[in-house]
Amino acid sequence: MANRREFLVAAVATSGVSKLAESKQATDGEARWAALNMGNARGPGGYAEARRGGPSSTSAQPAHLPPGCVKVGGELGRRIDITVNKNLLVLNADQDFLKPLRERTMKSGYVGLGKLIDASARLALYTGDERVVTLKRHLVAETLKTQEKDGYIGYLLPEHRVWDLWDISEMGYIVYGLTMDYRLYGEAASLEGARKLADYIIARWTSQPDHAIGDINIPTQMAAVGIENAMLALHEETKDAKYLAFVRDFRKIAGWDGRIVLGRWGRIEGHAYTYLAQCIGQLRLDRLEPDPRLVGPTHAVLDFLLNGNGMTITGACGDHECWHNTQEGTIHLGETCATTYAIFWLDELMRREGNSLYGDLMERLIFNTLFGAQSPDGRRLRYYTAFDGPRHYFEMDTYCCPNNYRRAIAVLPDLIYYRVQGGLAVNLYTASSVEAELEGGDALKLRQETDYPNGSQVTLRVDPSRSARFPLWLRIPAWCPNPNVTINGQPSEPPATPGRFLVLDRAWEAGDQVKLDLPMTDRWVKGRQGQAGRAALMRGPQLYCLNRALHPELKGVDLRLLVFDPASLEGPIPDDSVRPGGMAFRAKVWGPEAWYPHEKPAFTLTLTEFPDPSGEAAYFKVPNPQDSRLVADELLTPAAKTRSAS
Ligand SMILES: [Zn+2]
Repeated sequence: MANRREFLVAAVATSGVSKLAESKQATDGEARWAALNMGNARGPGGYAEARRGGPSSTSAQPAHLPPGCVKVGGELGRRIDITVNKNLLVLNADQDFLKPLRERTMKSGYVGLGKLIDASARLALYTGDERVVTLKRHLVAETLKTQEKDGYIGYLLPEHRVWDLWDISEMGYIVYGLTMDYRLYGEAASLEGARKLADYIIARWTSQPDHAIGDINIPTQMAAVGIENAMLALHEETKDAKYLAFVRDFRKIAGWDGRIVLGRWGRIEGHAYTYLAQCIGQLRLDRLEPDPRLVGPTHAVLDFLLNGNGMTITGACGDHECWHNTQEGTIHLGETCATTYAIFWLDELMRREGNSLYGDLMERLIFNTLFGAQSPDGRRLRYYTAFDGPRHYFEMDTYCCPNNYRRAIAVLPDLIYYRVQGGLAVNLYTASSVEAELEGGDALKLRQETDYPNGSQVTLRVDPSRSARFPLWLRIPAWCPNPNVTINGQPSEPPATPGRFLVLDRAWEAGDQVKLDLPMTDRWVKGRQGQAGRAALMRGPQLYCLNRALHPELKGVDLRLLVFDPASLEGPIPDDSVRPGGMAFRAKVWGPEAWYPHEKPAFTLTLTEFPDPSGEAAYFKVPNPQDSRLVADELLTPAAKTRSAS
């Protein structure tokens, strides 16, 4: 593993500093995006500091810790656990994933094997569970056995290969999964298989660069989604220039301009998952070969999500897989692939810029959309996760969304802590522990004790192997107006500011304790666009929803006609219905046609955490949409501006 670790450090050390200052193109969106971010230039992770610090292991750019050094508890750990035990380990991998690979009789289609290999490899390493390791080995060995002489691994009949859907994408993810198996486990056969398959793709595609892909008219980047990231990962492992050249010169991803196209129509140009996958590929290429064009689409989509109503209150984006700005939250909201890729993309941005905003956005997505996309018992997964109206489970274990879901869960341990400036950044709060190496080879153990997101208290026990000076970055969520941080009982210097990383740069001794008090403010958040005049209840990072099944009195009632009294909120009260140790609220509610506010409210209703599978509504009508108790979503631009003023 030693050379794996070195690689991870090196991969980050080669990262370019942000191109933001140099690439201030004059679009409105970019200017606003710059304003939003430049505040951080004065604080941790800003560009000025990144530039001064230069690319090194003490860079102000956060970096991933080596895999396997974080143990996760709390709700994040529980979700990992149920995904492994109730989903991954009960799949019929031979029947659903491997049989069609052995038969190779399909004319088109998608299975998701490469994604499953990636998730299994990560979860095997994280858990160390022999059953997961065995599954991973089985998937890889059986996959490699089917590799044909020309390098092909896939499901399709020879005459349909490469050009029918979704062969290039499927092969790309198999390349990626096998490459990750090599990265995490050093399996040489996996790398060899990945190379042969990648070479097969490159030889065929580059010999017919204008060949149409698929029998439906969609953009090439959608038909081939994932291929660039697979080739870049293979380049990282092999240093072979041809994989880089494929992405740079053949796919020409710097030239992809990433317009935001709304709605699903025409050639499906506004496909959110594809767009975010392209952005990630661009940011990864930019680390290797900086080019201002490679950050343009990332700026455009961040602006769209935060300033253009592209992101909904659950953190989810997209309707029917495509960009949307109506704030409608019905059946086709939030494809799980887009959720997963938003998390991956935010992780890229966090490692690029060290801006706590990206952690705030991750947290919103993870606790709401991601966990809402899974049944409470862990077994069933969703393709879409609506907040308005009924939600449905996806009927298969194969295909894109279930496999990307497993990948999102598998990266959670990497998102909690980052290495930064020779110290550690705490990005996500959950019971957990980490053992990492400090500059100079000393060891650091850090233990996070908390029942977050139930309670507001987080205790960090800092144990360096000997007294050492290093910075500890703590993400102070934007939703928390009155944070308080103490070190060994003394107030932190500087004090914590919402929506920033607090940097504690000092000499640490074994036994030091940092206590964060992050009061979980309850708040009614104002709806926008199609939700204007309505409000949604949030507490800390979590959204609450109304489950009609808990209330027989709501049978036949249109939930959009209920009127909530924001002043009547009671709670939080313990509620295990959605997760062990969960929380709920109660509120007084007028029925349709009530003479509010003078009439007595007819109902007292319970609001449960958003992942409640029977949740049917999250935005509610209120008597006065201008009520001063209703607040703007703190992640949107107005709040971001105050963040930059601190
Ligand atoms: Zn999907």
